[in-house]
Amino acid sequence: MLYKKTLHELIELVDRGEVKPLEVFESLLKRIKEKDEKINAYVNYFEEYEANDRVGILKGLPLAVKDNMHIEGKPTTCSSRMLSNFIAIFDATAVRKLKENGATFIGKTNLDEFAMGSSTETSYYGVTKNPWDTTRVPGGSSGGSAAAVASGEAIAALGSDTGGSIRQPASLCGVVGLKPTYGRVSRFGLVAFASSLDQIGPITRDVRDAAILMNIICGFDPKDSTSARVECEDFTRYLNQSINGMKVGIYEKSLMDCSQDVQVAMEESVRILESLGCKVSPIELPHAKYAVSDYYIIAPAEASSNLARYDGVKYGFRAEEFKDLKEMYIKTRWQGFGEEVKRRIMLGTYVLSSGYYDAYYLKAQKLRGLIKQDFDNLFKEYHCIISPTTPTEAFKIGEKADNPLQMYLSDIFTIPANLTAIPAISIPNGLSKNGLPLGLQIMADVFREDIIFKVASAFEREFNIRDKLPLD
Ligand code: GLN
Repeated sequence: MLYKKTLHELIELVDRGEVKPLEVFESLLKRIKEKDEKINAYVNYFEEYEANDRVGILKGLPLAVKDNMHIEGKPTTCSSRMLSNFIAIFDATAVRKLKENGATFIGKTNLDEFAMGSSTETSYYGVTKNPWDTTRVPGGSSGGSAAAVASGEAIAALGSDTGGSIRQPASLCGVVGLKPTYGRVSRFGLVAFASSLDQIGPITRDVRDAAILMNIICGFDPKDSTSARVECEDFTRYLNQSINGMKVGIYEKSLMDCSQDVQVAMEESVRILESLGCKVSPIELPHAKYAVSDYYIIAPAEASSNLARYDGVKYGFRAEEFKDLKEMYIKTRWQGFGEEVKRRIMLGTYVLSSGYYDAYYLKAQKLRGLIKQDFDNLFKEYHCIISPTTPTEAFKIGEKADNPLQMYLSDIFTIPANLTAIPAISIPNGLSKNGLPLGLQIMADVFREDIIFKVASAFEREFNIRDKLPLD
């Protein structure tokens, strides 16, 4: 059952000549054909294996990519009607780097339309189901990537994270998801949602696979003006190291908002970290309570500007009947975008409008600075900060679909890392009473993915749910 293996296991098998990458592709394709009608993890999967002649660590093995990043010659829909006819004419830098390192691709995964959401329910291509319980959401917006990796429809995948979209679905699907430091991974070829927050990162079945993909996708890119000139390192060096003596802060207040299951899993996580020699102490984040409100000013503001390009003129969907240019714009945008995207555009336009800019947008930027200061102060003393990734287990499909505010609160723990540019990972740390996965979030200072890998890897050795993934 090749589809059940991790990327590093497959790399080894291919290296030893025991498995051919084509066999892995075929195993995945068969699995997709059995499962995807129900799970709907993919917007598009590829029936044909396109061999990659380049010799690289990925050895021709197939990966999945969230459908808001470009693979040249393939559709990029962003799960929106607006881009339902769009074919990418270049590779995203992260995709190009994967190709240069020998990767091939099996398909493009489903997401909330333009990555706006926490449940993958707003996709133009239908809801993605949680493979642990198909009456529940997989989280979002990278719900397709997380569901594919958890269900054996992909070995590993790329996701994007603006307010939690890698970590929250990883948590709800029982897999590993890392949002790198802002600027670590080029955003070139990632369709922009909120440019000061968006980052690409891996969704995998274990921490080693996340490190392997990070080694490849990281690095300075002149095509992204916010890309950081920071040396790439070999993140696999940080696996299987001692974390004895590390100082870990826990945001205890946050636990009050969590389900009992999540609280129990966090208590157990603290015990595990302490048994590994960490000193875990409660910390304060005085401005964290404003993070969700802050995000829902800044992200829509940037989205309203980024999404102005979809006007029916340059590319994508265009309404059919109109009497003049203005009506063409209006009808195209009215018909091409779904409800949530329109809500964000209106919110964003409002907070940027003259007279409200100072009251909302400018104030939100100042608050962002204060939240950053809270974290800066903590990282003088602590190596990392832990919290739950999400306040509850995966919720039911439809449960929050009509209540945007409830939906927004799903990201209460993940949003601060985007506002402050810091790296954060979600790794499985328990199962709820309903047998659904829960996640532990580990945050470290900017460019300290080394700490995240050390702690996540050590934790995973003590606790993981690999053998419980819905792979049968
Ligand atoms: N759920 C958040 C939102 O809807 C985050 C989405 C994301 O990270 N792309 O904005």
